[in-house]
Amino acid sequence: MRLQINFTEISESGLKYEVTDSSWMSGAYQNDDAKPYAHVELVKKSHTEIELRGKLDVTARLVCDRCLEDYLIPIHSEMTFILQYPSQDHLRALNVDGGFGEVEILSLETPQVDIEDILRQQFLLALPVKNLCSKKCKGLCSQCGVNLNKSRCPCLAEKEKSPFAVLAKFK
Ligand SMILES: [Zn+2]
Ligand SMILES: [Zn+2]
Repeated sequence: MRLQINFTEISESGLKYEVTDSSWMSGAYQNDDAKPYAHVELVKKSHTEIELRGKLDVTARLVCDRCLEDYLIPIHSEMTFILQYPSQDHLRALNVDGGFGEVEILSLETPQVDIEDILRQQFLLALPVKNLCSKKCKGLCSQCGVNLNKSRCPCLAEKEKSPFAVLAKFK
């Protein structure tokens, strides 16, 4: 599927794309059981501006920061952008919202919309700042490296025997 669309191909009535393959996603995030789904609509606003509206649904594979295990997370993202070429910063300075309100304006380097590129950026923005398989993830033992979600390790028993652990109980 060709997903680079020149401004000249986009009309006022718009073009719609359904993206169901995952080639735009970095392999590390891919989850074989659920393909990503994206819906993108491009509408010509003027010779230099295209409006993009889209939805993205992905079940992404991430690695937990604490226990280093893979886990899956559903990502849902909606986007609306004005894609502009050439950049019209000088115009925006005069007419602050350009008639598009709060919509984000992206300046492109060529008059061409690269849908894969936009999905990739949108996906990365939608990822959580911290990767945790669960809020309660116990992580790895700092001494022996065992995954504490799955098993206890001897180090923990050692700690409980220490005088400090006994003191803690009296608090
Ligand atoms: Zn974890
Ligand atoms: Zn341990």
